[in-house]
Amino acid sequence: MKRVDLDPSQISGIQDLISGKVSTNESVLDLHSHDESAFPPVRPSAVVPVNSTEEVSRVLAYCNQQKIPVVAFGAGTSLEGHVVPLYGGISLDLSSMNKIVEMRPDDLLVRVEPGVTRLALNAKLANEGLFFSVDPGADATLGGMAATGAAGTTTVRYGSMRENVMAMTAVLADGTVIHTGRGTRKLSAGYDLTKLIVGSEGTLAVITELTLRVFGVPEKMAAAVVRFPTLTDGVAAATAIVRMGIAIARCEFLDAQCIRNLNAHEDLLMPEVPTLFFEFHGSPQGVVEDAQSVKEIVSEFSGSDFEWTSDESERRKLWQARHNAHWAAITTHPGMRGVSTDMAVPLSALPVAVELAQEILSQHPFPFSILGHVADGNFHCQIITDPNKPEERDQIREIVHEITMKIIAMGGTCTGEHGIGGGKIEALLEETGAEAVAVMRAIKKTLDPNWILNPGKIFLA
Ligand SMILES: Cc1cc2nc3c(=O)[nH]c(=O)nc-3n(C[C@H](O)[C@H](O)[C@H](O)COP(=O)(O)OP(=O)(O)OC[C@H]3O[C@@H](n4cnc5c(N)ncnc54)[C@H](O)[C@@H]3O)c2cc1C
Repeated sequence: MKRVDLDPSQISGIQDLISGKVSTNESVLDLHSHDESAFPPVRPSAVVPVNSTEEVSRVLAYCNQQKIPVVAFGAGTSLEGHVVPLYGGISLDLSSMNKIVEMRPDDLLVRVEPGVTRLALNAKLANEGLFFSVDPGADATLGGMAATGAAGTTTVRYGSMRENVMAMTAVLADGTVIHTGRGTRKLSAGYDLTKLIVGSEGTLAVITELTLRVFGVPEKMAAAVVRFPTLTDGVAAATAIVRMGIAIARCEFLDAQCIRNLNAHEDLLMPEVPTLFFEFHGSPQGVVEDAQSVKEIVSEFSGSDFEWTSDESERRKLWQARHNAHWAAITTHPGMRGVSTDMAVPLSALPVAVELAQEILSQHPFPFSILGHVADGNFHCQIITDPNKPEERDQIREIVHEITMKIIAMGGTCTGEHGIGGGKIEALLEETGAEAVAVMRAIKKTLDPNWILNPGKIFLA
């Protein structure tokens, strides 16, 4: 595919279709040229802000007819080069579509436009005693989160975007508007198009409205911290807890380097050893019982200093620190960038997988830390690189690829939550096989025959 730059008549053609202002301003193009990954930026030819499903439909119909690539843009926090407009065209900015359309507390659901961010939604839901559970470390948009199949620290208890998107309105490449799913707790009506579009990374359709499942704020929440002599002990303890069926709401592993970064970044004084953070949700008595069961299990894995708190500000401080782990890794290495890997394995393979990643990374000069949503078998390595040395980026890509291939060989996946983007195309092929990728490509070809939606992501044309 060749890069597409819009000519003045195409810019004014699109301008006529929307209420906002098409931008070719350099700083706006730069803002839409990259995500939070270390992938090299590529400017779109224009940035098109949209305000309604109708506008998205008109713009897509036009771009399809003119064969102009369209990359949907939410908050740009993705980590595999997802929003980089590799072939120019337009960046379709959905961040102004940020209305909460309807709250239905009795049905435990909300309808939102795709540009609403998860923190903005939770601020509104708090007034109703409700919360939306999926919490990636960045304040991403719900459209972007649906499009990447995002997950977070509470997925072990409440599920990821894949479980929490009930229905959606989406616009296909030719401008056709479709409605998928319903606001019902169960549904068995035909192909599950909602789940097809969740995780499709803007390659099949542009999401313009979401119906999401929300939860009542638990009566009691408590957090606990446990420390371990080794990384393997901590990870093995977490997997044992999950196997026992204890209803933990969060269970996050942080290695010693990660704790060191957080101490510096958050002004904390945690002992710099491998650590598990837990959270328990339920009745006052249930929470105490769950915490006691966890305390007993971790002691069998040499876990010590079991510290627990139900103090709200302490609990929030702990999880705020966890959510800042990515930024802590970067800011403790001034001027550097972070590359975040994302792999998941079956629970029993997790201790070996984390040890393997640590062993491989230790053979190289790049600083790194390891953390993960261990109760889901999902972990990340944060690798620090100098953005002024592009050769480092290539080296790190090779190291990550080596780890990824080994993870796939042990029955794992190349991504538990970040998605494929432009970075894991080869890994996806290895993981699912050429036949399955051919089916994905056939679906794409049917829905987007001119290949205008986020070309160059998930698989090549
Ligand atoms: C510090 C940090 C921590 C993170 N932690 C996590 C984590 O714990 N879990 C996790 O899953 N991710 C995590 N991420 C990655 C990122 O936050 C998620 O991938 C998030 O879902 C991206 O949302 P966004 O709004 O930024 O989307 P963008 O980056 O703008 O877009 C992501 C993809 O979705 C497409 N897209 C965006 N909006 C739409 C739409 N309306 N319709 C169709 N396609 C669309 C884009 O084309 C692109 O392919 C983290 C990122 C950072 C920087």
